[in-house]
Formats: sequence, structure tokens, C-alpha cells
Amino acid sequence: MRPWSYSRLSSYDSCPRKYFFHYVEKRPSSRPPSPAADRGSAIHEKAEKYLKGELAIYPPELQKVAQHAMTLRAKKASSEQKLAVNANWEPCDYESPDVLMRAIIDVLYSDDKVVHIQDWKTGQAYPAHAVQMENYVAVAAAHHPDAERFHTCLIYIDQGIVTPARVVHRERVIPIRQLIDARIKNAEEDKEYPARPSVDSCRWCDFSRRHGGPCAY
Ligand code: SF4
Repeated sequence: MRPWSYSRLSSYDSCPRKYFFHYVEKRPSSRPPSPAADRGSAIHEKAEKYLKGELAIYPPELQKVAQHAMTLRAKKASSEQKLAVNANWEPCDYESPDVLMRAIIDVLYSDDKVVHIQDWKTGQAYPAHAVQMENYVAVAAAHHPDAERFHTCLIYIDQGIVTPARVVHRERVIPIRQLIDARIKNAEEDKEYPARPSVDSCRWCDFSRRHGGPCAY
């Protein structure tokens, strides 16, 4: 089941059966590709290229967050940085066989003792986005042992909203990791992968009966 990532673990937490179909059996999705997901990927790619200075003109899709994006570029923020940790939450190579958890962080830069972690978002805001950022802090903290604080921020491209920085102090990192460890243990000990139907999960599930998938729900 390793390496874990935020999306893998949240997939398991939302419905172990869905996780099983996708990550264990590696079944293809029963749904056609989502235009919204394709659009999100395309915009992420443009944001990445913009920060890397690979675009000749400013991408119009990022117009509503232009000021923020320009500031990030001026700060030389790194883009799509791949980080990984082992089971002791020590930094390790992204491709290492010892990886416990991986994270690909959309935007990352540090100044003084503060590490800034940000994520481009298309579509609407969800409470889970804050959990995702905590996950990133847990991984990034291993790679920035001198950092005292981590400022996380979500950039909602469609709405033109940049959330105020949420501050995570170094002392909070261990409890966050303990919670992730408990979730991982729970998932890794599961031999049944029970279905956990809910209106929200099943409606969008790639494996639901309504989409021609193998699940009974
Ligand atoms: S349809 Fe619902 S219960 Fe079935 S795998 Fe998907 S989320 Fe789980």
C-alpha cells in the first residue's frame, strides 16, 4: 500500500472499497474523463510553467490571482516540488523503496525560519483542503529541520481568492504525524476494504453502479 500520499489516504478514508478498486485492483475508471479534472490539470501545468519562467505571456486562466502569482514568482517559489519521508518521518528520496509518504507541493518557498506551502485550486473550496495542507506540512517539515513555522495558503483560481496564511508551529508537526500514522495503520491492517456508501462519495465515484462500475452502490 506504500507509498502513501494525501490523495491515497483520503481515498481510503472516504471509502475503503473505492480505494481497493483504484489502488489495489487498479481497475480503470468506469466514467469518461472529467472535463473539470482535465481543466484543473491544464491550469496547474500553466501555473507551474509560469512560476518556472517558461511562459512568454501571463496565463489568462490565472488572471484573478495575478498579483499573488507575480509575487510568488518574484520570490522564486519552487513549483511542483516532490518530497518524501520514510516511516520515521525522515527525509528520503522520492523514489526510495523506503518511502512512507510522498507529497508534490504546488508552491513552496522559505524565508528566515518560515516555510510557505501553497496549493492552486480550481473549482470550489472544501474543508478537506485544510487537511491536505497539514499533510504537506508533515512531510515538508522533515526537509526543513530549521523551520519554526509553516504558513499554508490555498489559491482559489476561479474565485480569485487567496486564503490568509494558516500558521502551523513546529510543535504541531508531531501530533499531525501521529494522526497520519494512525490513519495509515488502520488502512494497512484492513483486509476487507468495506464499502462506505454516502450520497456525496457515491455520486462522483468512478466505480459506482450508476456509472457502470463494479460496486453495488
Ligand atoms: S460507489 Fe460508494 S460505496 Fe461503492 S466504492 Fe464508490 S464510494 Fe464506495
